[in-house]
Amino acid sequence: MDTNTNLLKPQGEHHSNFWQNAHHYFDTVYTDMGLDALWRPYLANPKRVLTVSCPIKMDDGRIQVFTGYRAQHNNARGPFKGGIRYDVTVDRDEVMALAMLQTWKNALVDLPFGGAKGGVVCDPRKLSLGEKERLTRRYTSEIMPIIGPNQDIPAPDAGTDGQVMAWVLDTYSMMVGYQALGVVTGKPVSVGGSVGREEATGRGVMNILRKFLATQNKQLEGTRIAVQGFGNVGSHAARLLDQRGATIVAITERASGIFDESGIDVEAAGKYYKENGTLVDFPGADAMSNEELLTCDCDVLVPAAMENTIDAAVAPHIQARIVVEAANGPTTPQADAILREEGITVLPDILANAGGVTVSYFEWVQGLDNYFWDLKRVQDELQRVMEKSFDAVNAKADEADCDYRTAAYTIAISRVAEACKVKGLFP
Ligand code: NAD
Repeated sequence: MDTNTNLLKPQGEHHSNFWQNAHHYFDTVYTDMGLDALWRPYLANPKRVLTVSCPIKMDDGRIQVFTGYRAQHNNARGPFKGGIRYDVTVDRDEVMALAMLQTWKNALVDLPFGGAKGGVVCDPRKLSLGEKERLTRRYTSEIMPIIGPNQDIPAPDAGTDGQVMAWVLDTYSMMVGYQALGVVTGKPVSVGGSVGREEATGRGVMNILRKFLATQNKQLEGTRIAVQGFGNVGSHAARLLDQRGATIVAITERASGIFDESGIDVEAAGKYYKENGTLVDFPGADAMSNEELLTCDCDVLVPAAMENTIDAAVAPHIQARIVVEAANGPTTPQADAILREEGITVLPDILANAGGVTVSYFEWVQGLDNYFWDLKRVQDELQRVMEKSFDAVNAKADEADCDYRTAAYTIAISRVAEACKVKGLFP
């Protein structure tokens, strides 16, 4: 059955690799794991994709028009939820693919949310603070008809942060006339955010790797780890792994990277990156390119940058025995097959990076309750959710004798399909 047709796409137009990759995993699991075929076409397509145009007055007086998207994949299990990305590579297919991944991720960690994703085509590093604020406020007002605390709740993703979420909160709240804490997560703590949200994705990555190593009678202490991407996810993952005794041998960002066999001073590197926006000339470590990082001598590779960074060309040269997908979609299906043949364990994105949305869920609950938790409670509950999810995936992989990605997708898709089935189709 061809479920790869998307009625939202004009005929004859080709889908990007990332959308095809997301479908590849979906189709493979559907076919190989014998899932109920009835709901397959429904789950294969997003419910809605909104394209908006955001005209912004730039600092030099020009008017520039930015294109934005919000894709809502499936809300059978609850309101849509997913990040907002600011990047030059954002396109309609990318947000559709990320929205679908988000549906599976939210279901896998058993949150009462569906999946969505948004993005604006821009280079956030080239915008002044004022331009970024005007863009965020205009984009929020353009997607306003389809977001809301019970409809669709955005959060940070690549290129956005707590400040951007605060502008989303304020714009939405001004338009409805009251403070709507539940409309967005990843907010600064001073405006109703949750303690522990900023580091949550990185903390979840650490929780999942530690739990997997325990199944091999291994521990983080002494494990040599390379981290690609040093933004929100990569920097917190590196810091938390380092604090637990792992040796961070390599870190790269978009334009540069560093390597130290005996272990990078992660705190100093983080401070340097914050101050300089790059790792170029960081003292006390050798320079390393992104390509070199992916194939460097290490035990664990943590891609925490963007999608498709591990492809068929690089996969055969990877020396790590474990890949933890901290980014969304970092491994292409071709590379995934090569890694499997090589006996390299891949801890898939929908499990490994689910810590962010999990604490976003805690933040949403706290905002709706107007009752805020302490850091210990957030961290303990996050660990509980991550470890429980790992155990479920591990048990499924054992039972079905399959890899972790197949196991994770099987659990997630089955949960969403079950919700669709129980609710039935409207009307
Ligand atoms: P970010 O913008 O904070 O950081 C991205 C980092 O990756 C930066 O250091 C950047 O220099 C680097 N980078 C960008 N392109 C690169 C490339 N081609 N090669 C190497 N490095 C590159 O973004 P983030 O929030 O840390 O998100 C990173 C990934 O994690 C994305 O795939 C995102 O979807 C995913 N993710 C983020 C969250 C979250 O809570 N922020 C949650 C789940 C998943």
